[in-house]
Amino acid sequence: MFQELGDGVFRRRYPSLDENVGIVLGDDGVLVVDTRSSHADADMVSDELSSLTSLPVRWVVNTHWHWDHVFGNSRFAGAEIWGHVRAREVLLERPDEMRRGALSWLGPEQRETIEAVEIVPPGKTFSDRVSLDIGRQVDLSFHGLGHTDSDTRIVIPGAGVAFLGDLVEEGAPPSFGDSYPLSWSTTLVGASVGIPDVIVPGHGDVVDRRFLATQVEELKAVAGLAASCIDGERTVDDAARSGPYPEQTMTTALHRALEVGVGQSGV
Ligand SMILES: [Zn+2]
Repeated sequence: MFQELGDGVFRRRYPSLDENVGIVLGDDGVLVVDTRSSHADADMVSDELSSLTSLPVRWVVNTHWHWDHVFGNSRFAGAEIWGHVRAREVLLERPDEMRRGALSWLGPEQRETIEAVEIVPPGKTFSDRVSLDIGRQVDLSFHGLGHTDSDTRIVIPGAGVAFLGDLVEEGAPPSFGDSYPLSWSTTLVGASVGIPDVIVPGHGDVVDRRFLATQVEELKAVAGLAASCIDGERTVDDAARSGPYPEQTMTTALHRALEVGVGQSGV
């Protein structure tokens, strides 16, 4: 069920992918953070929401463009869908890649479900920061390249709660497949400034600033090892065995760093 984390701010943790959905109650509408992986997943959120409030969903915020956070967008017709400008661009430019990603993760038995998804990108975008007025203040901000090129920090100052999407991961190593390993730690430091102590990751349990600081240190170690691979001082195989995360995760991170370098924000 929904867990109240601050005044009128809730999260629901779903066993599927251990993913989190956020709910922020406004004066005359509800804001939903992330819409899960399919139409049925999103409809489950709507159904359960009726136990919490009769207010309509008027705003959706996508923390980033990954399929498991946006594939339910179309089920919130009439809501403003917010996200970083790159989240919109990537979903418009690479919808087939999104479906392939979902298929490879969920397996062929989910093919029909995935093909039925109507991919709806955010229609309302920002590049640096924006505040939404839903009868209370909700701050969206971008702090640089990290888990993707579109990671959005969402802070509800009046409730002392933040949502960080997959910039922070609890219960599993961070996901590096579309990441910028050389930049992620710096981005997370920026996103940590002034953040409340109740922080909801994209997946896993609620964390605090101390957890963020630990993850920053781990990501710094990844960046250092990636830099040594780029400089030719170490091989990927060697560096992958020295990192703070399992070898397979490290291998993905190091190859990704060799591929994208420091990256470009694309904004
Ligand atoms: Zn993600």
